[in-house]
Amino acid sequence: MTTCPTYVLWGEEMDSPRGRIHLIGQGLSGEPLSDSMVGHFDNCLGCMACVTACPSGVRYDRLIEDTRAQVERRHQRGPRERALRAAIFALFPYPNRLRLLRGPLRAYQRSGLQKALARTGLLRRLAPTLATLDSLAPRLRSVPRPPARVRARGERRAVVGMLTGCVQSAFFPDVNSATVRILAAEGCEVLIPPSQGCCGALSVHNGRRAEAQRFARRLIDTFEQTGMDYFVVNAAGCGSSLKEYGELLADDPGWASKAAAFAAKVRDLSELLVELGPVARRHPLPMSVAYHDACHLGHAQGVRVQPRALLRGIPELEVRTIAEAEICCGSAGVWNVLNPEPAAELGDRKARMVLATGAELLVTANPGCLMQVAAAVGRQGGTIALAHTAQVLDASIRNLGPEPLLSRPA
Ligand code: SF4
Repeated sequence: MTTCPTYVLWGEEMDSPRGRIHLIGQGLSGEPLSDSMVGHFDNCLGCMACVTACPSGVRYDRLIEDTRAQVERRHQRGPRERALRAAIFALFPYPNRLRLLRGPLRAYQRSGLQKALARTGLLRRLAPTLATLDSLAPRLRSVPRPPARVRARGERRAVVGMLTGCVQSAFFPDVNSATVRILAAEGCEVLIPPSQGCCGALSVHNGRRAEAQRFARRLIDTFEQTGMDYFVVNAAGCGSSLKEYGELLADDPGWASKAAAFAAKVRDLSELLVELGPVARRHPLPMSVAYHDACHLGHAQGVRVQPRALLRGIPELEVRTIAEAEICCGSAGVWNVLNPEPAAELGDRKARMVLATGAELLVTANPGCLMQVAAAVGRQGGTIALAHTAQVLDASIRNLGPEPLLSRPA
């Protein structure tokens, strides 16, 4: 319970894993699904800190995922909530639609209107959801989309399919470019079909199982004939659901075995690089970094050692520890959009812990965490640069020095 972010915030039993399991039990014994019950389920960030902490190995992740699917099937939300969710799910899982936002968003950021509006506080008073989206939007940079196939540098050691993602490809294309360069430098041929879509993570984490299954089938179809040895992912939330494709399509006889075979090839970027072992030379990066475990990488996938091992393999790079590392930053997919106030509280708490390390750079492996912590550091009036693990490794392999990384302030 002490690692559950909602229990930490409110100290309310029904907003702890034990309380939610109790409510799930009541539902199973015939209690109708009330608004208050659904509220406690909706409050859960799905961060899985409770799964890591549970000494009895209770699979809360499975329980809440099934419960959310039940809620979506059987519970009628209010009109405002329905409209907000419909808008979110008509936009976020579609990279092409997100990319269309880039032009207007860049113009808005560069015109000075964003800063002027933030100073008035008007947007937060009139439209808190829009204000949250506004504060989360990263400074956009123009980066060309990667080609469909990139050859390995030197001897080819593996053929790797790569997920470009939705938010990652629209708002953090430089993370994808860095990922491709590292993989090629480490002897991987990288396959990046431009027709790939969403992996379904956002949908499955919000109980929209049928939608997630459609996305999963399409992604498997896109990569199935490519002959890849691995499928690499650089976004923690996507990786955790991709590894569960076997369970997601287990009841579909035409897809169950294909989905399980696909899932067996899925690796987080850091897992794959450690598995293959380094061949590209690491150049020094004399700087201090704080590594933040994204919940869907640390808690959901158990990947904690590999990113740190990669960072510690860079000469002159000091890796500092963030206190309360197990507690979520409040991003949690679209949780921060649906619950802006508690999400900001969790973000501020995380930002204080990050700033207390005194590190020059915050490193993490999830676009949601990068946006959430950047916004919170800004609110705290602090300064720290932010980067994905891939960008740090890329800077080391290309011998760029710390400067390009430190010029990305929160
Ligand atoms: S998943 Fe996270 S928010 Fe939900 S009950 Fe577990 S620790 Fe709490």
